Amino acid sequence: MAKKWMKEEKLLNYIGGLWQAPSSGKYTAVTNPATSEKLVQVPLSAEQDVEGAVEAAKKAQREWALVPAPQRAEVLYRVGLMMKERKEKLAQLLTMENGKVIEEARGEVQEGIDMAFYMAGEGRRLFGQTTPSELKDKFAMSVRAPVGVVGIITPWNFPIAIATWKSFPAIVAGNAVIWKPATETPIMAYELARIFEESGLPKGVLNVVFGSGSKVGQAMVEQEAIRVISFTGSNEVGRKIAAECGSRLKKVSLEMGGKNAVIVMDDADLSLAVEGILWSAFGTSGQRCTACSRVMVHESLKEKLEERLMIEISKLTIGNGLDESIKVGPIINQAGLEKIKNYIKVGKEEGAKLLTGGYIMESGAHGRGNYFAPTLFTDVDPGMRIAQEEIFGPVVSLIPINSLEEAIEINNSVEYGLSSSIFTQNVNHVFQAQRDLDTGIVYVNAGTTGAEIHLPFGGTKGTGNGHRDSGVAALDVFTEWKAVYVDFSGKLQRAQIDVE
Ligand code: NDP
Repeated sequence: MAKKWMKEEKLLNYIGGLWQAPSSGKYTAVTNPATSEKLVQVPLSAEQDVEGAVEAAKKAQREWALVPAPQRAEVLYRVGLMMKERKEKLAQLLTMENGKVIEEARGEVQEGIDMAFYMAGEGRRLFGQTTPSELKDKFAMSVRAPVGVVGIITPWNFPIAIATWKSFPAIVAGNAVIWKPATETPIMAYELARIFEESGLPKGVLNVVFGSGSKVGQAMVEQEAIRVISFTGSNEVGRKIAAECGSRLKKVSLEMGGKNAVIVMDDADLSLAVEGILWSAFGTSGQRCTACSRVMVHESLKEKLEERLMIEISKLTIGNGLDESIKVGPIINQAGLEKIKNYIKVGKEEGAKLLTGGYIMESGAHGRGNYFAPTLFTDVDPGMRIAQEEIFGPVVSLIPINSLEEAIEINNSVEYGLSSSIFTQNVNHVFQAQRDLDTGIVYVNAGTTGAEIHLPFGGTKGTGNGHRDSGVAALDVFTEWKAVYVDFSGKLQRAQIDVE
């Protein structure tokens, strides 16, 4: 059963299979962004807690790596079943701590369930390669070996899904994990740790250390024994982590921001495009790394699209996501609200035309939470800051275009390269777009969101550093390739010399 939460309860770290108070004795309050109501107290752990987790993980990992992978996978299978049983409760808690509407919260929990079953299947694959040797009576193969102790640092916007994308492949591959969840959203981490505890995962294979990025995250980066850091979050923090890992020769996988665009061609199904834009721009209140924040629309459809979007935006219900009728929830915190508000000012100053929204909602029940009105700018120039920088809120910019080539050029002109989409009925445009859009994900006749867990997730350029979450590609982050040669000739054969 999912836990019964007591108001302002103090959470504990999960280290070596034990629930422990932080050695600092410090906590901070977590609030519901929809109501500002205090939920729990989350530990602000210290470096010593990370050290304890590293010791526990090192010890546990040696034995865990020797457990046959199909047996390791059975733990994930049980985790998936438990998540399925608790899906509704987990979704409600997720809405309370993160704010996303309940329908999306259910979708996020489902993503974790899917990942559990998918990665459990990997326990019977974890494929390596066999290949002929250049010498007689010699056998050659490559196998995946666990890296050892790995660190994962996750953000608040997908507090359970992203954690499963990272921890499940790490665990099935035979690693031990130290996980620092975002301070804003610790309840999902607590629930997932409890599920792992009940699943029979040996103590110390998963450790959760709550605390700030600057203290706990930094300590993880500095720990010699943590050989991989897998991070999702802002570009600024990702770059800093990468630089520090680089100087320590530590592997680092980064998944960061996006400035994702929908292209609406002149032959698009306009109703479908409107639906796709609304879902991917205002879902999770625009706080997705794949959120649509630019729409390149063909001049011939621009006015119609503006009209249709204005009508649909006016129908969006905004409020507490626990209410099934609500379509757009709150922004995670005050800093998020201020950041979005500032971009509205920037957009106006740059000369973009504000069609609707553009303000913090402060009257009535909205005044108790962090709500921002869904916003639409038009006549946006592709070089404006609102068309270049990640806003992470419910703000969309319409950019008129006259050709697919122009749309592709604009799409590719930003520093990020996560997700893009095109609405068209023209098969030539489809294939040209999927080839030329410089993003890790391309959608055709769908919005910019909706990744499935068995495909690689990640982007080009400033979105990351070439690694991918989810899909089989995630295993590359958490394994080392080991080449194995077996000589059964009974004599010493020298590669590249005894070949004739
Ligand atoms: P951050 O990058 O600050 O946080 C992401 C995670 O990294 C959190 O767990 C955070 O810890 C941790 N962290 C912060 N500083 C450090 C550090 N020095 N060393 C190690 N770990 C660290 O993102 P925010 O949550 O503050 O969001 C800011 C912006 O980032 C958003 O507005 C958005 O633009 C972008 N973002 C992108 C996401 C994506 O999916 N690509 C997801 C989330 C954010 P803690 O917060 O607990 O201190």
